[in-house]
Order: sequence, then structure tokens, then C-alpha cells
Amino acid sequence: MPSAVKINALCELCHCRKAVMRRPKNLQKLCKECFIHVFETEIHRTIQREHLFYRGESVAIGASGGKDSTVLAAVMKTLNERYDYGLHLILLSIDEGIVGYRDDSLATVKRNQSQYEMPLEIVSYKQLYDWTMDEIVACSGIKSSCTYCGVLRRQALDRGALKLEVHHVITGHNADDMAETVLLNILRGDTARIEQSVNITTNSQGSPVKRSKPFKYAYEKEIVLYAHYRKLDYFSTECTYAPEAFRGTARTLLKNLELVRPSCILDIIHSGEQLKLKHKRRNASSEMEVRSNGSVSLPNKDGNRCERCGYLSTNRICKACILLEGLEINRAKVQIDGTSVDGAAKLTKTLEHLAF
Ligand code: SF4
Repeated sequence: MPSAVKINALCELCHCRKAVMRRPKNLQKLCKECFIHVFETEIHRTIQREHLFYRGESVAIGASGGKDSTVLAAVMKTLNERYDYGLHLILLSIDEGIVGYRDDSLATVKRNQSQYEMPLEIVSYKQLYDWTMDEIVACSGIKSSCTYCGVLRRQALDRGALKLEVHHVITGHNADDMAETVLLNILRGDTARIEQSVNITTNSQGSPVKRSKPFKYAYEKEIVLYAHYRKLDYFSTECTYAPEAFRGTARTLLKNLELVRPSCILDIIHSGEQLKLKHKRRNASSEMEVRSNGSVSLPNKDGNRCERCGYLSTNRICKACILLEGLEINRAKVQIDGTSVDGAAKLTKTLEHLAF
């Protein structure tokens, strides 16, 4: 919510309306109208500077019903009309199968569909993998839930996009998410991932679908303010399977730093952009890359297909299939003797040393 502003302060941009907030990014005193305009304009400039879209492109908006993706849909609709981008925008939702969380948030996305007049496609884990997240957690515990979910969602988004014949998915990842990931990678010593974590556009290995983050420089607090001032309809309950503890610690650290120095979020992103690994140890003959954390990427090329599911993968077996195999081992073990060998968790470890 906006910080308190003296009642007689005027907006520092229009100099005629009363300021109602201090902008979280730079503490500028603004009225509601100027804040909305400046927020949208900055997103438009990011889109232009980074050449994110081309005219006539079909773009799927990863829509969860949460604040980030709801604001993304609202802003993209506004900018597409205001600046005549000529984009065909579609909402693409993933149903992970989390009762009491995703079913409620999908109800919000369905309302957004009519509010923003965009087509909606929903792809579920159950359809794609024959597992829901609730079943995965029941089988393997809550500890690695986000690891499973992340791997399965990446592939589900790709598959959903290809079903729509769309090759570009945009997501509501914001500046706080990016800075948090940079911090997390530094705290883990995983320097190999820092550069990639601040890219505005990425491709999963082997995937023909690119992902972009138009909110790369947008502060989370400003996204909340924008949703508040435009009275957007979004879902604010946290997932039942809370994010892992270490990420939560990095988030708290970032929030504390932001209190002292609001620009630190952009500063961390900027640092991530400047950090280039000097040497990547690469075995030229085998094309096997050894990363700084000791993990390796296997010597397969883009365009290969997973031997199990047939989906595009740079490895012989795709990451989703490796996880699902672990889950099947666990389920069988539980059925036979009522105990879990945590086979999936072991495979998660294996996975971390593959091509992430
Ligand atoms: Fe999936 Fe974890 Fe997000 Fe829940 S918090 S939706 S389990 S990634």
C-alpha cells in the first residue's frame, strides 16, 4: 500500500492533482493517474527497447489468476490497443491439480477471460502426466514439491503454447523475482545460473517456445498498487505447498534491503547482467559442458526427442519423465510394503546434476 504522503503535496509529474502515494521505485510523490500512466509507459519502453514482439505475433500470457499475471494481462491489453502492437493475446493457464488453491485461482482467470476479452486455454498436469500436484505431494512429501512443479510446469507451458500454435509465452515475473533469484544463486554459489536468471527472454533447452518477462524492471509493490488503483480482479491466496525455505530467506533478505535502499532491486539485477562467467570449462570433443557447480549438461543437441514421451528434449530422457519415473518407483514401493523409499527425491538430486 502507498506510503503516507502529506495531504497538501502535489503530484511531482502533473503538478496539479494531489499526490496519493510515494512511488516504491524512487519515492516520487504521484497522483493515481500519473502513477498508472508512468507504470504502463515504463513497460512499453521495456518492450520497445528489447524488441520483445513483432506485429501480428500470437502471444500466450501465462495466467495464474495471481496479481502479477492479472496485471500483465491488463497492461498488455492496454498497450496493445494504445500503441497498436498488432498482437493476438491469449491466456494460457496451467492446472497443477492443487485443491483449494488452483481451482479457486482458475475461477479468477475465467473471469479475467471475459473482462479482457481474450481466449483462454487451460492445460492440466493430470491430462499431460496423469499426476496432480496433490498426488505427487501425497506420494513424495512436500519437501521437493516446487522442484517437481517447476519442471512439470515449464513443459506444460510449452505444450499448451504449441497446442495453440503459439511460440511466445510471456510471464508475470517481476524485478523482485529476478533480484531474488540472483541473490539465491549467489547464496548457493551457483554462479553459472546468474547470467541466465536475468535474461528478459529465455528458451528451455530444445524448446521452440520462447519465454519473455515484460515486468523485468517492474517492482512487486508497484504491481500491487497498479492492481489496487485499477481495481483489478485477482486471486491473492498463497499456494498450499509454500515455496522452499531457502528461497523464503532470500526473499526476506531482499525486502529488508529494499527498506533501506529501494534501488537495490534494480541494482542487483544490474549486477547480475554484468556478471559474465570468464571461463566455462567445455570439453570440445564431447560437447559436454561442466558447470562451475560440478554439474554437467549431456551431449545431445536441440531438436532431439525424449525416448519416453517423445517431447522435445536435449537429453535422452526429458526432465519431466525422470521425475515421473521416480514418482512411479515411490508409488509402487508404498503399495508393496507401505513405505516410501523417496525414490523421486533421489531422482530430483540426479536431475539437479543434469541440464538445468
Ligand atoms: Fe507449484 Fe510450488 Fe508454486 Fe505451489 S508454490 S504452484 S507447488 S511451484
